[in-house]
Amino acid sequence: MASHKQDAKQEEPPPNSEPVLAAISDLGRGFYRELLDRVDDGVYFVDRDRRLLFWNKAAEELTGFARSEVVGRGCPDNILCHADVRGRGRCNDGCPLEQAMASGKSDQIDAFLHHKNGHRMPVRVKVTPILDAQGRAVGAMEVFNDRTARIEQAERIKELERLALVDELTRLPNRRHFDEQLGHRLAEWQRHGRPFGVLMMDVDLFKQVNDEHGHETGDAALKLVARTLRANCRSFDIVARWGGEEFSAIISHVDAEQLVLVAEKFRSMVAVSNLRLPGQAIGVTISVGAAPAGADDTAETLLKRADEALYQAKRQGRNRVCVG
Ligand code: GH3
Ligand code: MG
Ligand code: MG
Repeated sequence: MASHKQDAKQEEPPPNSEPVLAAISDLGRGFYRELLDRVDDGVYFVDRDRRLLFWNKAAEELTGFARSEVVGRGCPDNILCHADVRGRGRCNDGCPLEQAMASGKSDQIDAFLHHKNGHRMPVRVKVTPILDAQGRAVGAMEVFNDRTARIEQAERIKELERLALVDELTRLPNRRHFDEQLGHRLAEWQRHGRPFGVLMMDVDLFKQVNDEHGHETGDAALKLVARTLRANCRSFDIVARWGGEEFSAIISHVDAEQLVLVAEKFRSMVAVSNLRLPGQAIGVTISVGAAPAGADDTAETLLKRADEALYQAKRQGRNRVCVG
């Protein structure tokens, strides 16, 4: 692939784009095409005239446009038509690909692309100029991914923050929110039979972390655990900070067996996460008590069983899951 120098200047006469275009069209056959088809981000290349030269599989999935529909066409030809947050089209005024080619520099923007079905989709876009050996732009590459989930999560947190339901340190929902949600899930369970379960999680030997590395590092370790738990749950599950070094979760639509699988995933993902500090990496583990909701459970009985299971996990040696 062509080199991507950051600080190149544009010069006259116009650069000879043939060698780079040949290299790009080789993507149609070679190893890089295969590689780019396996990544989850949409990737495409344009030449200096913004004619589309390459379009990967993720770009097909994210936009609905097949490769055969777009390759060879002009990018501003009613394909992606990125718009900004006010809905202004950027194709003819401030196209990020054109700007990258003009400046010779990479850039990142949030935009809304045009899906083949007509709707607009929030994407994060990275554009990089493709430069020849003299550092002159002969084309540009764009990498983009779907921001929908990120926006939903950010908006959910913003709303919880407004209602004072977010824990300041970890940015997770707090115990008050957890209690409210548990009430709703129990009602749904009793009325409609939608199964769910509760997890109680406690960081193992956390006092030692504070004692050995200081309270600030302890806080950073709690944030790491919070990020790990959140990154490994589904959007409709709730992971909250229960208090101190304890976390709780409501896992929806699961039976006892599936609940344990989620608990195991949380436990193992925390166990393989590290807080990287200068010269060292600090790891912590969690013990987990799991309680699937039973027919006669109240919030109190359910939490009590999860708590007892957690206590059992601690007694059995920590860094494990027990079911109550
Ligand atoms: P165990 O495996 O039995 O849970 O051992 P432990 O050391 O984790 O349990 P213990 O209850 O003795 O200690 C919990 C520690 O967590 C003590 C407390 O100072 C620390 N802690 C609680 N909240 C915070 C916090 O917000 N930040 C930091 N840095 N430490 C916290
Ligand atoms: Mg504790
Ligand atoms: Mg603990």
